[in-house]
Amino acid sequence: MKMLTGIAALGGAASLALLMAMPAAAQSAVSLDERAAAQAAAVQADVVKWRRDIHQHPELSEEEVRTAKLVADHLRALGLEVRTGIAKTGVVGILRGGKPGGVVALRADMDALPVEEQTGLPFASKVKAMYDGKQTSVMHACGHDAHVAMLMGTAKILAGMKADIAGTVIFVFQPSEEGTLGPRVSGAELMIKENLFGALEPDAIFAIHVVPGESGKLLWRSGGMYAASDRIEIRLSGKQTHGARPWDGTDMPAIASGIVQDFAHIASRQVNVTHAPTVLTIAAINGGNRFNIIPESMTLLGTLRTFDPEMRKLAMAKAEASVASISALYGGSAEFIWTAPTPAVINDPKLTAAMTDALRKAAGKAGIDNQIDPATGSDDYSYFSRLYPSIYYNLGIGFPKGTNHSPFFDVVDEGALEVGVRSQVLTTLTFLQKIQSGELPRRKAK
Ligand SMILES: [Zn+2]
Ligand SMILES: [Zn+2]
Repeated sequence: MKMLTGIAALGGAASLALLMAMPAAAQSAVSLDERAAAQAAAVQADVVKWRRDIHQHPELSEEEVRTAKLVADHLRALGLEVRTGIAKTGVVGILRGGKPGGVVALRADMDALPVEEQTGLPFASKVKAMYDGKQTSVMHACGHDAHVAMLMGTAKILAGMKADIAGTVIFVFQPSEEGTLGPRVSGAELMIKENLFGALEPDAIFAIHVVPGESGKLLWRSGGMYAASDRIEIRLSGKQTHGARPWDGTDMPAIASGIVQDFAHIASRQVNVTHAPTVLTIAAINGGNRFNIIPESMTLLGTLRTFDPEMRKLAMAKAEASVASISALYGGSAEFIWTAPTPAVINDPKLTAAMTDALRKAAGKAGIDNQIDPATGSDDYSYFSRLYPSIYYNLGIGFPKGTNHSPFFDVVDEGALEVGVRSQVLTTLTFLQKIQSGELPRRKAK
């Protein structure tokens, strides 16, 4: 072990070359984290190059044609079985290890956003595409460029270890996480509908998302990590009247303001606030055009964010009852429309506990935080996490001038990508080892 520690200490490509040259018996004595670290260092230059290329060529949801081709060509060159065109542009690569074992899937989302980049990077996007009927600037403002590049690097490493891998690794390159305008088409949901795994369903699935934060830090929590999201549209209708005589018609603004106030009470007092958070928001009130006309209709738009399926149902029922009764109180009527449901991203407690050591070893100097607050944002990875034991964790990439989705979002420290690759390699190999040893169960077919 001493000699081998010395080799790992050489770091980077040198140690990888030495590892490759070693007889298999000696290699197996090298600890998993040392192997993963050496190999992640060795592909880092490629990962950075791919990330910058993808960053410079961002594609909107459902249009990830160039990115998908880049990925598919790469996976084919590595000798993987590749399927393309799943959910329009999705790509799946299958790596069958040299020994039998479990099945693990790794997911990266590929799409960019209609945002005009202002990072000033030499490889900043100048791409424009049609969005909502207009020529619009496109930018990787959520870091999915980094996700694709890291998973390409991970595939390269694991393909190189193929003979030693006990089990199967499925690389899922998913389109349309952000979704298009109008009714949300989730890339994850569509890939599942199109049976992306076929007969080879995973025992677990992992995903990573870059976020502003200390570079190389890995962050997650057990249980509900990202909220379930439901869009709200409320169409109020009644009788138009003069602003000086509200009693002659339906007092539409009074209904709207009543709903806003009651929604705050529902979220803060009508569901068990000690169990999980609930956010019930009215974000837009549209209606009326003059100081002295109370209109016959108004539309309210909003969103519900929850972490528990039962609490979600309860909040929905209470919101509907509130809207119906407040509208009736003022002699109006209401149509309540829920759209674009996205489930919560749930980190499987048992799997999360079993992977904590691997993630700690993979993290950079900044270490881990496995007790972060739940995030009220959403990610359609939830469609995977509700079917398979799953972990979704964040990777800190330094502190850009703007958050995810801002024109200033950037992977400030590309060194963090090496941590991301290391974490994917290490969690994959650790998971398959634990399946092999019986410490973690194979997934039972549902
Ligand atoms: Zn996003
Ligand atoms: Zn994202």
